[in-house]
Amino acid sequence: MNVHESEKVAGILENMGYECCPDDSSADIVVFNTCCIRDTAEKRALGNIGVIKSEKRKNPDMIIVVFGCMPVQPGVADMIKERYPYVDIVLGTRNLNILEDEIKKVIEKRATKRKNDKKYRCFNVEDPEEFIALSDGLAVTRTSYPNAWVNIIYGCNNFCSYCIVPYVRGREISRDMNVILDEVKKCVAEGYKEITLLGQNVNSYGNDLHIDGVNFASLLREIDKIEGKFRVRFMTSHPKDLSEEVVEVMASSKKICSNIHLPIQSGSSKVLRDMNRRYDRDHYYSLIAMLRSKMPNIGITTDIMVGFPTETEEDFEDTMDMVRKVRYSNAFTFIYSPRKGTPAAKMEQIPYDIKKRRIGELIKLQNTITKELSKEYLGGVYEVLVEDIAPKYENMVCGRTESGRLVTFDGTKEDIGKFVNVKITETRSASLFGHKI
Ligand code: SAM
Ligand code: SF4
Repeated sequence: MNVHESEKVAGILENMGYECCPDDSSADIVVFNTCCIRDTAEKRALGNIGVIKSEKRKNPDMIIVVFGCMPVQPGVADMIKERYPYVDIVLGTRNLNILEDEIKKVIEKRATKRKNDKKYRCFNVEDPEEFIALSDGLAVTRTSYPNAWVNIIYGCNNFCSYCIVPYVRGREISRDMNVILDEVKKCVAEGYKEITLLGQNVNSYGNDLHIDGVNFASLLREIDKIEGKFRVRFMTSHPKDLSEEVVEVMASSKKICSNIHLPIQSGSSKVLRDMNRRYDRDHYYSLIAMLRSKMPNIGITTDIMVGFPTETEEDFEDTMDMVRKVRYSNAFTFIYSPRKGTPAAKMEQIPYDIKKRRIGELIKLQNTITKELSKEYLGGVYEVLVEDIAPKYENMVCGRTESGRLVTFDGTKEDIGKFVNVKITETRSASLFGHKI
């Protein structure tokens, strides 16, 4: 989501005639795209905004923009206003439509400023009523070829008790199905080979539109009908809303990948209840069974959090047990980070050393499973969509199987964006290595 929002910022700036430059010191405009999902992300953003001060001193004409979910938190825009007086523009996730005008205003006001005039600054983190109308159609500079990110639903209505997202990204708003289909068609016509549909919970797509027959399954069916060879992925799927209908569309489609990111967060039903996730471990496991019965080779990844305030050793063991049972191809693991304003932040917290030990054990277990699953690929031939040149190896490229596994093999940059059949000959933990055939 954040990467795609940066693509939108880049699109707006390039439309205005700006170009991406190699370092901060030569920049006329610096935009910080911030995230506040965890404390570390927020601290890093503030640290980077602090560091730019010295560049701004050398280049007083520089325009500094802070954008994203961090300033939408109560009090944060005011804090930036006070502590970072060199920041010119602060915008929330739903205010990108005014970026161009505000940049123009800063430039114009600077040019006409008289001695005692106050410096012009913009702070807008409001949630405009016409958000979709204002944001659809903004320019995008895509940076993830052969993949194109496409938003289908913005915001979140779920209020998981640990999560800041519903407070900073607003309520769910689905984009019009025809607008999404047009964007996908355009991307395919431009040569993108993979479309990743984005939403905090893609399964809620259409709920707010109240149009008969418009839901995530029907959107997937319509995308599947679009001509051309391309893959479709989506993230993220909330387990409480993953329907059999969606799984059936996935299973019957050649374009929708056998790959799903299904965040479990915890393997303990008690912790899941305290997290307000609205499913339990049995329901989650029944979804895994359904997915695998319809798509035996599906790649399943997840998000897991350790150290939620009410997580006991027993609860943590339940998480480890679930990881052993499900055997994820990969997992994003997080230490719970209290977020101001969320219910869980007010609960009694677990000491950091316990959280650290638990995440260490979890990562070790997941690495072992990933390694074991990698071996199952040995000797097999898989269609890989080439994404990039391999950063660490000469004359090698990397790409993904339909199940989402990363494969490194012989190739050149001309292969990027091509579907190539690759025989897997070696495995190293999360990476598979092979040869083009
Ligand atoms: N909407 C997605 C879902 O419900 O699966 C998740 C989006 S969230 C940006 C990505 C992940 O960040 C979550 O799945 C969760 O594991 C993690 N996360 C969210 N809040 C967190 C917190 N306060 N501390 C640690 N991790 C957190
Ligand atoms: Fe956060 Fe839960 Fe919404 Fe995901 S579904 S963004 S974890 S509140």
